[in-house]
Amino acid sequence: MIDTAASGKVSLTPLAETEETDPRSQRARAERMSVTPLGGGLYEVESQSDNTYFVDLLGSRCTCPDHMMRGVRCKHIRRVAIEINEGRVPPPGKEAVECARCESVVFVDEKTAAAGPHFCDRCRLEPGEPVVDRATGDLLVVVAMTDYRANQVEVPGRDCTVAEYPTNEGYPADDPVVEVLYPIPSGLRPEQVEPRHVRRYSFPRSRLQRPGRPGNQSELSDFPEPK
Ligand SMILES: [Zn+2]
Ligand SMILES: [Zn+2]
Repeated sequence: MIDTAASGKVSLTPLAETEETDPRSQRARAERMSVTPLGGGLYEVESQSDNTYFVDLLGSRCTCPDHMMRGVRCKHIRRVAIEINEGRVPPPGKEAVECARCESVVFVDEKTAAAGPHFCDRCRLEPGEPVVDRATGDLLVVVAMTDYRANQVEVPGRDCTVAEYPTNEGYPADDPVVEVLYPIPSGLRPEQVEPRHVRRYSFPRSRLQRPGRPGNQSELSDFPEPK
């Protein structure tokens, strides 16, 4: 698990005064606190006064005096709920991991968190998804995103890795390897099927892009063409 709590204690952006009138909710935002997910729906909250409390979010319980003595929904429980809503910490049942490609934080199921690699929505390609080879413009179909990096996979019949393959130079050597197929053109007779129609090919992730949608250039601008 990686620690996605703020590195220092912070206060959150206040909502407009009219939106939030409950003093506990106001303090939940305004006070400097840090929230650390512990798994199993438990969160550690370091308060502005340097006390550490534990919040059981699903049970709506906290170890602070305000909750223990008065049974109220204290500012710590509210703070945890706010940070989940704002995507700062994972909700119960989820764990924060790093995307294996771009290192952005992804929330994944606690049970599968150790079974990576995990990818963020932007980096992950799903089996069956059409992609374009940026080097040739060819349309390909994703078979799988693998656990391997381009500098770990040998190209069959060549004395080099996917990263060292001449047309792959310029893409990150530690890019995740994606297995793809060339789709068989419709109407192709059996004798016209070429080896490339039935073989799987290994590509560095950055060489593949989702087919462009009008007005959506994000995939292009995020990963500029190699020099
Ligand atoms: Zn509390
Ligand atoms: Zn990513």
